[in-house]
Amino acid sequence: MSRIAYVNGHFVSHRHACIHIEDRGNQFADAVYEVWGVRNGALMDFEGHMLRLARSLTELQIHRPMGDAALGTILSRVVSLNYIRNGLIYLQISRGQARRDHVFPPPDTRPGIMITAKPINFEKAESRARKGISVITQPDTRWARRDIKSVSLLPNVLARQAAAEAGAGECWMIDREGFITEASASNAWIVNSDGTLITRPATHDILNGITRRTLFDLARKAGLKTQERAFTRDEVLAAREAFVTSASALLTPVVEIDGKAVANGHPGTFSLQLRESYVATANDRARKQVNRPSVWLVARRGERPVT
Ligand code: PMP
Repeated sequence: MSRIAYVNGHFVSHRHACIHIEDRGNQFADAVYEVWGVRNGALMDFEGHMLRLARSLTELQIHRPMGDAALGTILSRVVSLNYIRNGLIYLQISRGQARRDHVFPPPDTRPGIMITAKPINFEKAESRARKGISVITQPDTRWARRDIKSVSLLPNVLARQAAAEAGAGECWMIDREGFITEASASNAWIVNSDGTLITRPATHDILNGITRRTLFDLARKAGLKTQERAFTRDEVLAAREAFVTSASALLTPVVEIDGKAVANGHPGTFSLQLRESYVATANDRARKQVNRPSVWLVARRGERPVT
């Protein structure tokens, strides 16, 4: 549970944190967000998420409230104030507060900003990964700019709820041509019979996951066969392995789709090895980040926050 949140320039207790009723994020979902994994007190893939945030803001013509260094400092402070060693940090930036009107407010309207943090039990996540998850599928009913990390997440919420009601861990969404786009809150991957790692290209059809990109680079550097192309549900059923990636799930194997086993119904060795090397790389990067005298240094539990 987040103890301290950051809202529009102030660190406030989570319980009393609030935004104005006329914040455009509230009325129009006129806001973007980012989520970083926190590992050993450091923000994972800090720059990658910052770049995607900048892109989302530019695409929606929302002003940047501050530079990366200042934002990094505040994010780190929220992490340390909440004593997060392993967890997630959530940032949301809206077009600001103004009388309700579809048209953009005057250009000097200050963007709204809020940050929260929560711990994650990585051991629990590890055992979930070792077991694998089942997924269901549903038509993808989202808008045509899924590359923008907008807070307009109702179709994702409904998809994930349907998965939860079916006892599944995720919902994979299918486009009109019968190809899987991605999951409600993660990217979808398969490993086909010849060991090629396949994931959908990062067009407007999916969110270009930062975990997806890091893993893709890692796999390519390791000399694995990779392919960016759309795939169908039948290909998942014929695949050797399947998995999802996200800042919170890292890499989690998928062992069942719509009640049918993927391969032998157990996480594949390929996926588990990839997860291991992804986690090792992330830990290594986090260590380097903690050792770097930069503004996004994060205090460890019990130490004074670095600001
Ligand atoms: N797709 C969707 C729809 C998501 O919500 C997420 C998680 N934010 C992802 C993919 C994975 O992105 P990332 O690896 O940056 O967490």
